[in-house]
Amino acid sequence: VPLILSQFLDRAVSLYGSKKAIYADDRAFTYEELNTRVNQLSHGLKASGIQKGDRVAYLAPNSIEMLEGFYGVFQLGGVMVPLNIRLKPEDYLFILNHSESRVLFVDQDLHHLILPVKDQLKTVEKIIVHYKEEETDETDYDAWLSIQDSRPYDREDLDENDVCSLLYTSGTTGNPKGVMLTHRNNYLHALSTMHHLRVSDQDVLLHVLPMFHVNGWGSPFYYTANGASQVCMRKATPEKIFDALQKHNVSVMHMAPTVLNSLMQYHEQCAPAVEQDVRVVIAGSAPPPAFVTRVEKELGWEFIQVYGMTESSPLSTVSTIRSHLKELPLTQQYRMKAKAGHQMIGCEVKVINEQGEEVAYNGLEIGEVVVRSNGVMKGYWKNEEATMEAIRGGWLHTGDMANVDEYGNIDIVDRKKDIIISGGENISSIEIEGALYEHPAILEAAVIAVPHEKWGETPHAFVVLRIGKTLTEQEIISFTREKLAHFKAVTGVTFVEELPKTASGKIQKIHLRNDYWESKG
Ligand code: ATP
Ligand code: MG
Repeated sequence: VPLILSQFLDRAVSLYGSKKAIYADDRAFTYEELNTRVNQLSHGLKASGIQKGDRVAYLAPNSIEMLEGFYGVFQLGGVMVPLNIRLKPEDYLFILNHSESRVLFVDQDLHHLILPVKDQLKTVEKIIVHYKEEETDETDYDAWLSIQDSRPYDREDLDENDVCSLLYTSGTTGNPKGVMLTHRNNYLHALSTMHHLRVSDQDVLLHVLPMFHVNGWGSPFYYTANGASQVCMRKATPEKIFDALQKHNVSVMHMAPTVLNSLMQYHEQCAPAVEQDVRVVIAGSAPPPAFVTRVEKELGWEFIQVYGMTESSPLSTVSTIRSHLKELPLTQQYRMKAKAGHQMIGCEVKVINEQGEEVAYNGLEIGEVVVRSNGVMKGYWKNEEATMEAIRGGWLHTGDMANVDEYGNIDIVDRKKDIIISGGENISSIEIEGALYEHPAILEAAVIAVPHEKWGETPHAFVVLRIGKTLTEQEIISFTREKLAHFKAVTGVTFVEELPKTASGKIQKIHLRNDYWESKG
């Protein structure tokens, strides 16, 4: 049997047909209803001339329409191109032309972002608007969908190695690149992840991460396959999240540490007496160790750390505590959960030094993380050179540096590009951030390298203080000197109101570097 993503929805329909598949705002659909709309979407696209291999772009918040898009486009053999909703019109122009998308589905509230560049779109033939209320030339989604054939779609000869998604990376370090993932990539990634996260039909997933980003993108597959319910919000504020936890009896959430931080902050300040039944929260993107303790102790949620990147579907490791270590004191277990953990099923993950040999399992030696897995992309779209640079000898070179402890836990130290080299020593910006997060007056922190006459580079912190708290630069410097080896202490601090973040909640150090240089004139 070819590994085709539509099988996940088939299974849910046959086993859980009358169960609610998805809730969004004031609407909800059962698996059967969802499937009917998915079939209509595939038929509608086909009637519009869309064929296997064609790109279909989506510019939408987390929504029912977005989930329909997944299965409707896949069934037809199309390639979904989800667009980050926080970009500028010029960025959409670039991605839509670069991906050669033929159809664009766009949410009414985001439609204005396309209008300024509409005339310059080279390949888009049809724009279909979700929730259309205003008068525009564009097609109204619901009206268009309702007139399409709703019978099961006769799936073409789909091959598991067909590309089904073109996901543009976060652009944390530069221009986003189009990552080509196949049915097989997403399918096997989903099987592995659902096992590691123990996904079941009892689960209710609250989508906090945007579905247009790989971390949010992958999750609908494994929750659908298990007949779990999913809840979407157009905008996920802490208040709305806590409301939804109660209303929908949410059991699991995936999120970036920055969002988790604002949730914990909200919980602390407003202490909403909500009865909630969250079993687990999953975070990637370098969560500070202090977060693990806070989530598990204060919120009573299990914390799982995962590590991955768009290029690997995304996940490759998961924090797992070996059974014989479960006897350890909680503080020690928390320390272990603060690491990216072990390779997942279907993934081989190694940390190698410059000679290409695996580093010693002593928690000291640092090397680059390389991955060989079922999730590794086919390549970057129209960028052979970048593909050959990323996948060498069959291994995806992640550009992330890590060490491995005596138990085989991989601990991500930093991105290669973010490491601070001071007096010949490699310093992890993530480690310093972890120390800063232990200070009760600090809400958010990010550390970058700045040039230094004597040491080459030294760490400089950008800090957001908690409301009503004060701290001086010197106090922060002293705090890091207490917590860390002296050469790792920050040498300067810039206080800011907020840190620049991507739509998925990642801190964009590239902007902090620019800000630093601008402030130096
Ligand atoms: P771009 O490649 O466009 O610069 P990006 O690398 O941020 O953007 P993503 O694919 O969304 O795009 O993010 C993957 C990166 O996120 C990883 O390479 C790693 O640097 C970071 N990351 C993910 N999970 C973790 C984790 N658990 N700990 C530390 N870093 C993580
Ligand atoms: Mg990257």
